[in-house]
Amino acid sequence: MQFKSLGDKRQVVSLSEAVFKGLADDGSLFMPEEIPALSDEFFQKLPGMSLPEIAFSVLKPFVSEDLSEDELREMVESTFSFPIPLKPVNDHIHVLELFHGPTQAFKDVGARFLSRLMSKLHPVTDKKMVVLTATSGDTGGAVAHGFYKVPGIDVVVLYPDGKISPYQQNQMTSLGHNIHAIAVDGAFDDCQRLVKQAFNDRELRGEVAVTSANSINLGRLLPQMVYYFQGVARFMEQNGQQPPVVCVPSGNFGNITAAVIAHRMGLPVKRFVAATNVNDVVLRFLKSGNYDPKDTIVTLANAMDVGDPSNWPRLFELYNQDTEQLKREVAATVVNDGEIKETIKEVFSKNSYLLDPHSATGYLGLSRQLKGEETGFFVSTAHPVKFLETIDAVLPGEAEKIREEFGDAFRVKGTHETMDNSYSKLKEYLLKM
Ligand SMILES: *Cc1c(COP(=O)(O)O)cnc(C)c1O
Repeated sequence: MQFKSLGDKRQVVSLSEAVFKGLADDGSLFMPEEIPALSDEFFQKLPGMSLPEIAFSVLKPFVSEDLSEDELREMVESTFSFPIPLKPVNDHIHVLELFHGPTQAFKDVGARFLSRLMSKLHPVTDKKMVVLTATSGDTGGAVAHGFYKVPGIDVVVLYPDGKISPYQQNQMTSLGHNIHAIAVDGAFDDCQRLVKQAFNDRELRGEVAVTSANSINLGRLLPQMVYYFQGVARFMEQNGQQPPVVCVPSGNFGNITAAVIAHRMGLPVKRFVAATNVNDVVLRFLKSGNYDPKDTIVTLANAMDVGDPSNWPRLFELYNQDTEQLKREVAATVVNDGEIKETIKEVFSKNSYLLDPHSATGYLGLSRQLKGEETGFFVSTAHPVKFLETIDAVLPGEAEKIREEFGDAFRVKGTHETMDNSYSKLKEYLLKM
């Protein structure tokens, strides 16, 4: 399979090029040239398949020109080595828990697969390969753990000094080996600017192969399809073979795009719901037909604080850029901070299920959109341990229990470099690595 640019569709590249470039030369996103349909035989076997087996069948058509079957098998076994269970919350609503990976967030799936893909595809040269990432907290941990001890690749994560939680800091600084954490004296924007400067520095790139691991990378997007296959199969076993309505808490819209691609490959889903926080560009678009991005608003579901979702062009393209077609299959709903808190409280008291703020948008979004006797599931994108400040505010006793359970993770440990926010220091560091 080859991958096309969403801008100039005549520009097609190999998987390897799409993964290492991230964006096409015209600045657009890459998309698979076609979306293959899975066989009836696959769907018959699906209920009995393990996650790595599902991943192998689903991903094979996308990677078969670049990887051998053995390579793919090894990659999916090491990526999908934690459970992704479907659990009932109440009579109508189930939850697919995506947070059982090493950093307790769904981004572990994409980061782990991407790291293994890069390690396999990376051309043999004597240049050192460095994945350079700026993080405001969450992505850095997933990328650091995803690439931990992956041969031939070093990771440098820049984060704003003193502006992330000890819990998040530990996820990046306590690994060592090929993972290098740098606390930058400045804000997240400074970290991003430094990364951009490095990417634009020809002299540096002559010496060091720098690459990125951000969320528009196809190597992160494609593996996110896999858990929807298992989630839907389990759901249909438990609910009389009715396809579910599926709700995805959305920020950059990568996770829901993966779900829609899975559906195009044949996965039965009744409808999709994209639940966002008050960063509501997509809901406004579906109402007015005008795509009008606004500045980002800070919310309790802060991993979804996105004013202009980077994967939106992919999702829109899946519906031929036709709003009416899209609206038949995808609804959007907006959940504000007050509703997030209420939902966490209510679902805990009625169903004894503790939601994190992101998953709370998923639960409420789904319960609003289910009609009559419809049933479905939402995906839970993070464990509440990652957002304890909010749990503290609504259910302090539960927050305390989690703090005890995860105790050690809250004590600062590990090592990091500190750096002022000038590019020359970063460059010197990268050249000396
Ligand atoms: C990144 C993230 C999201 C949003 O996922 P997208 O693919 O960007 O829509 C939701 N919840 C959590 C916890 C996240 O980290």
